[in-house]
Amino acid sequence: KIQGRNRYLLFQQNLLSLSQARLRIENSLRRAINEQKGFYLEYQPKINIQTEQICGVEALVRWQDKELGSLSPADFIPIAEHTGLIVPLGYWIFEQALIDLKTLQLKGIDLHSMSINLSARQFEEPSLLDHLLALLHRTGVKAEKIDLELTESAVMRSPQEAIQTLSRFQQERMTVSIDDFGIAYSSLSYLKSLPASRLKIDQSFIRELEDGNDDYAITASIIEMGHNLGLKVLAEGVETQAQCALLKKIGCDEIQGFYYSRPLPLEKLIEFIQQHNDG
Ligand code: C2E
Ligand code: CA
Ligand code: CA
Ligand code: CA
Repeated sequence: KIQGRNRYLLFQQNLLSLSQARLRIENSLRRAINEQKGFYLEYQPKINIQTEQICGVEALVRWQDKELGSLSPADFIPIAEHTGLIVPLGYWIFEQALIDLKTLQLKGIDLHSMSINLSARQFEEPSLLDHLLALLHRTGVKAEKIDLELTESAVMRSPQEAIQTLSRFQQERMTVSIDDFGIAYSSLSYLKSLPASRLKIDQSFIRELEDGNDDYAITASIIEMGHNLGLKVLAEGVETQAQCALLKKIGCDEIQGFYYSRPLPLEKLIEFIQQHNDG
């Protein structure tokens, strides 16, 4: 009994320190966003599996806080979403990605597209599209260079609204990718009318991908369905040559993952692209 009680106390203390940790992150996040300090972007190349050419990059935010040190998105993005801080942070991310895209263009690197993640909270902001268009205008980046990644689960929160909003992005010539696809129990009837260009198969299906196993069956089915709906299909989290070969065999269009490259800071991305194009 005493042990049970101790365990309960420990549990309560853990909860308390957990919520204290959250609060600390929230406060630092608020300060960092106000000061616009400590954030930077890394870029992970996306590779066309047939041609092995780089077909775009995905921007991923990083945070190096002066007090908390470096935090992974898994630690602060959910808090940013919960508090709404993702909205101002998201605009910073978008603007920085456009500035970096410009820098690449000035170096003679003309990427086909730059993918930017949008969380559900950002996506539901009524002024999102106007804000993005204003940033595009200000930086002189063409809308067709921008690909917006929205998770399948964010879409499924209110599919009707999502379809309307996504078609507005498409009217402005941005493309849309459905992120983390396969884990959110989409209704297939919505998928049919979704204004998107690409499905990104969630990395949980790729991790243990082997010829003939369940993940293989699911992955192959997603690829076939995606193609029948006129979508490109990308596999996330590709780490090995074997996964890459299997995905090529079953007709996957694009891959992303440590096998080709980890997310890279801009200078390293430039080196990677220049080497890749040479060799
Ligand atoms: P995501 O959009 O699904 O991004 C893919 C995550 O997988 C990234 O983690 C990336 O570093 C990681 N990854 C890429 N290739 C591999 C691989 O081969 N193996 C493994 N094990 N992992 C791989 P990261 O950067 O920690 O981001 C985690 C999540 O945080 C993202 O998942 C996304 O949901 C969110 N996030 C990151 N940056 C942003 C952003 O700028 N805005 C928003 N709204 N969310 C972001
Ligand atoms: Ca993503
Ligand atoms: Ca993903
Ligand atoms: Ca994810």
